[in-house]
Amino acid sequence: MPRMPLSLDLHARLDDIFPTGSCATGEAERIAYSYDNSRRHALPDAVVFPHEHAQVESLVQACREYHVPVIARGRGSNTTGATVPVDGGVVVSFERMNRILRIDPDNRLAIVEPGVLNGDLQRALDQYGFFWPPDPSSASWCTIGGNLACNSAGPRTVKYGSPRENTLGLRAVAGHGEGFRCGTCTSKGATGYDLTRLLIGSEGTLALITEATLKITPKPSAIRTLRATYHSVGAAARAVARIMAQPQTPCALEFIDDVALQLAHDYGGDGVPLAGAMLMIEVDGETATLHSAVDAVSRAARGDGLDELRVAETEAETRALWAARKALSPAQRRISPNKINEDVVVPVSRLPELVDGIKQLSANHQVLIVSFGHAGNGNLHVNLLPRDDAERARAHACLAELFALVIALDGTLSGEHGIGLVKREFMPLALSCSALGLMRNIKAAFDPDGILNPGKLLP
Ligand SMILES: Cc1cc2nc3c(=O)[nH]c(=O)nc-3n(C[C@H](O)[C@H](O)[C@H](O)COP(=O)(O)OP(=O)(O)OC[C@H]3O[C@@H](n4cnc5c(N)ncnc54)[C@H](O)[C@@H]3O)c2cc1C
Repeated sequence: MPRMPLSLDLHARLDDIFPTGSCATGEAERIAYSYDNSRRHALPDAVVFPHEHAQVESLVQACREYHVPVIARGRGSNTTGATVPVDGGVVVSFERMNRILRIDPDNRLAIVEPGVLNGDLQRALDQYGFFWPPDPSSASWCTIGGNLACNSAGPRTVKYGSPRENTLGLRAVAGHGEGFRCGTCTSKGATGYDLTRLLIGSEGTLALITEATLKITPKPSAIRTLRATYHSVGAAARAVARIMAQPQTPCALEFIDDVALQLAHDYGGDGVPLAGAMLMIEVDGETATLHSAVDAVSRAARGDGLDELRVAETEAETRALWAARKALSPAQRRISPNKINEDVVVPVSRLPELVDGIKQLSANHQVLIVSFGHAGNGNLHVNLLPRDDAERARAHACLAELFALVIALDGTLSGEHGIGLVKREFMPLALSCSALGLMRNIKAAFDPDGILNPGKLLP
């Protein structure tokens, strides 16, 4: 059924709320905000660029009156179609709400608007000797709002946690158009339901975040990089469980399987080792104690199936050790521009079963699968690389079996990318009817008319 265009009345309201240059309705601008990194797209009816919280409240109130969808957007770098306006409506781009409002080292917090880029925040915090732990590799071009809405993370999560563990409070606007604050400015709080953690990971379906109070961490003074290669993926996966079972938690524990290493080697040259699997490990801390922490992690990394353990002594060596990881993305793109990129997660001790299961799925469905990622959290990026239509069809069948395997191993569908549009049909695999029912009730309490990012997250 063709969608109705926005009414003239609503257009007039938008023009009032968003004066010159901050409301776009031309086709070219709408196309620019119609897609994200999922490669899906759908045209919005308008795109608005708020500068302040009050405009977001007025916008949601107006859209609620006219039953028009409101889709929050950072920089559209998510991989799940979470910002695609599938039912049209108004895309709210937070790119102009990009001020760092306060950095307060004494209280270990920073207050920011949602459009601040993760990378810009890290640079500002660096001057105070601090950092915000969530570190997606898209940090230079993704926003804090997007990071919070997807609970996006990266390698450091294994030691420092995800946005859920690194956010103290939020200001937001729910679907009925009312603004509210939740959380605290303190490092402890036991005052009612934890709405902050609820909004984090809600993908813009419960409220639009207009300000965030983030918990920041002092930077460690030293860091050391290790590279361990193993005979087999199973041996590397068992080493991950050993490393995580001892007290020195590394600040990165990344896994790369044999297929990924071969691809990276073909692309990146001899600097990339060929092995059954590889772990990239980073240990941080104070200079005086780092040595013993590196020793403890090295002892755990050694064991059955280890080929070689190298510890970088200089920055150049560190860069060389990371060469394999850096070569991976371009290498995959060369084989399959339409790769299917999943980010499943299992308990760390079940990683050996997951990597074995993935090998079997790859053989059964005859689809090339490359696995790598944040093994310290049991979070693997499983990339299916179909090269033609027949392989694409097989890859989709394989995907359903991959999710079933992950659930059977007590894991879940996504560790950091979220659900969006592309994974919501699989939600009943991961959550019971009653849990999904509670989620729907929560959605209705925040967004009674279902105008916030419709078609996402909940099946
Ligand atoms: C090359 C590349 C590498 C990546 N690496 C990683 C990685 O290492 N780890 C990782 O976790 N992800 C990674 N991602 C995915 C992506 O960068 C993250 O999901 C990121 O957090 C999205 O931020 P964004 O600003 O682009 O948000 P968008 O994509 O614009 O939006 C994402 C979601 O957040 C919602 N949203 C945005 N702003 C708000 C707001 N103010 N209030 C409420 N909801 C809001 C949107 O509605 C949408 O549901 C990568 C992506 C790319 C392209």
